[in-house]
Amino acid sequence: MESTELLVVGCGPAGGTAAREAARRGVATVVLERDPVVGAKRVCAAGLRPGFCEDFDLPRSIVHLDPATISLSTAKATYAFAMGPAHTTTREELDGTIGALAQAEGADIRTSTLFRGLRRERDGIVVEYADTRAGERKTIRARSVFLAQGSTARLDDVDARFGHPGWSAGLITCFQYRVYPERAAAPETYATLEMHYYVSRISGRNVIAWMFPKRDHLSIGLGIQAKIAGSELRAELDAFLATVERRLFAGIPYTVREEGNLLYGGLPRERIGADGVMVGGTAAGLVDATTGEGIHEAAVTGRLAAEAAGEVHVGRIADAAPRYERAVKNAFYGRLRRRQRLMTFLERKPARFDVLFRQLETTPRFAQLLQGDRSKLSRWDRMYAYAQAMKFSLTALRV
Ligand SMILES: Cc1cc2nc3c(=O)[nH]c(=O)nc-3n(C[C@H](O)[C@H](O)[C@H](O)COP(=O)(O)OP(=O)(O)OC[C@H]3O[C@@H](n4cnc5c(N)ncnc54)[C@H](O)[C@@H]3O)c2cc1C
Repeated sequence: MESTELLVVGCGPAGGTAAREAARRGVATVVLERDPVVGAKRVCAAGLRPGFCEDFDLPRSIVHLDPATISLSTAKATYAFAMGPAHTTTREELDGTIGALAQAEGADIRTSTLFRGLRRERDGIVVEYADTRAGERKTIRARSVFLAQGSTARLDDVDARFGHPGWSAGLITCFQYRVYPERAAAPETYATLEMHYYVSRISGRNVIAWMFPKRDHLSIGLGIQAKIAGSELRAELDAFLATVERRLFAGIPYTVREEGNLLYGGLPRERIGADGVMVGGTAAGLVDATTGEGIHEAAVTGRLAAEAAGEVHVGRIADAAPRYERAVKNAFYGRLRRRQRLMTFLERKPARFDVLFRQLETTPRFAQLLQGDRSKLSRWDRMYAYAQAMKFSLTALRV
């Protein structure tokens, strides 16, 4: 049977980064990617946090724009503050570039291959997959496995220890239009990432919507945490599109490409590492519930999986999974759980969004601290952020 050191499932930002960084460490790496072309089918607003390209050593050529402002809108008002600047791109370019760089480091990326399952044997993990181009079922033996197949990963059928009772309830149905205006939209369009939080007039549900500008199009979309009919989702997005169009590209003809996908917005999985198998990115439940951001989290888990597989490669550890799980939990679990609780608290009384956004607008340092990496904050920064969080809680509880 064919064998490798690290077998990666999925070539999104998590799988692609794992493959690139593991191969760079000399770890023999094979990637299984369901799609025929890496990144071609990913539906995403593709906003990247400040510093992402530098942190992950990616070329600036993938960046479309560097919006330096983020605006947060509610039904009542719009609040804006400076940021980073952040970047926008497309997933074709992001995932495609990471995949190509992984290949250049020596990773073997196999497109049109569908992961089916795995079993553990005495001398490794046997992974079964379908080569959909050749129409054949194949197996490969690996020392370590990194599962990074995104929001479609239920995983309880792969290993009961990865089961997560809240998985289905945490799924957010997303629908997005790529809007291609025939002429440039209003100049402010290209300087701002817009996020909108409101209760739908159509369905009465909480909606998160966005407008992210790109070189040649605008990503205009929304997500609702429920299973809802396509027609209802379309009506919601058409209503939102009309409000953006009025403000930013009234009178400019445009064409639209539609895209739909699921995003996970619940709590992270309890277990993400067991007997050589690691779970990363969205498959691990690592998405910020307040913003839908998950690319950074995904890429970091890829890096941590590569580090753990690298330690196995040099014989320093026998099993990559415990080290990986510890590192990911330290990096993300505290923040993502707090963000999930915050989102539930805000959605219970949507007027609380205004309390938070007003405070962020008037205290830029607080906004800055919330965007940054918590592990890099000084003691004073943490105390300041804590005091601001207390202030918010006390004010919001009175709403
Ligand atoms: C509409 C929308 C907008 C978003 N906007 C943003 C944003 O602006 N910024 C941000 O940071 N995050 C955003 N996100 C979240 C972001 O898309 C995810 O957090 C990120 O893609 C997670 O990366 P990943 O590598 O874990 O998984 P994915 O990117 O989902 O990649 C998984 C890969 O696995 C492959 N795969 C799946 N099943 C199998 C299988 N059985 N066998 C083989 N391959 C398989 C898929 O084809 C895919 O290539 C958005 C999500 C959605 C849905």
